[in-house]
Amino acid sequence: ASLEVQPKPSVISWPTGSTGGNAFMVAAGPCGVESREQILTAARFVKRHGAQMLRGGAFKPRTSPYSYQGMGREGLELLVEARAETGLPIVTEVLSPEQVELVAHHADMLQIGARNAQNFALLQAVGETNKPVMLKRGMSMTLEEFLMSAEYVLSRGNLKVILVERGIRTFEKATRFTLDVSAVPVLKSWTHLPVWIDPSHAAGKRDYVTALALAGVAAGADGIIVETHPEPEKALSDAAQQLHEHEFALLMKKVRAILPAV
Ligand code: PEP
Ligand code: MN
Repeated sequence: ASLEVQPKPSVISWPTGSTGGNAFMVAAGPCGVESREQILTAARFVKRHGAQMLRGGAFKPRTSPYSYQGMGREGLELLVEARAETGLPIVTEVLSPEQVELVAHHADMLQIGARNAQNFALLQAVGETNKPVMLKRGMSMTLEEFLMSAEYVLSRGNLKVILVERGIRTFEKATRFTLDVSAVPVLKSWTHLPVWIDPSHAAGKRDYVTALALAGVAAGADGIIVETHPEPEKALSDAAQQLHEHEFALLMKKVRAILPAV
């Protein structure tokens, strides 16, 4: 991952856009896929407001085993339907090595969640695929440890890794996690891999999401991944932090004020 090995930034591309170098990407959509109507509605409006990728969890890594666990395979099929209609590539989470083949068959990018960021068997398994991997920083990981997790993927031959700062654990309770904005310049001084910000899981409350997203963009992030839902109050996971459509539209407008090309 080191700039000493590859001094030039890595660029990862899809038909709708690229990330890394001078190219910026926005991935947006609900926390989880909940129904056909929900994901198709979200896909249509995130595309209309300028996102280049659709997010949505089919397998959800919930802190409690009694919370909503996602639609599973059916959710993957709905994401594929949303991609067919909108042309947006899809990013979705994979929870275990056994799921990698199934998720890689459907998705355009494999998401490794914060809770699995040091699941080395899983990192090696996605490293055996040819799909880009979006690796979230574990909530208690140092940046050095984060890069070592990326190395688990790279060392298996998959060089398409995106690093995502999504907030870390601190003593502060006003937000769900503390967005470590300094992760962006620090990681970018060490690695050629693209660095994204996830303002949604850091904030935990929709009112703070836009400010954190803009902070990440201004700090030099190569992309953002944001949660937005047609009816956030009714969401089955992360209801408090998902943006309404009009809030997402405004966020995109503000991102374009910093980066006119997006
Ligand atoms: C998510 O993206 O919905 C998610 C569970 O994120 P994280 O792994 O960063 O908590
Ligand atoms: Mn979520």
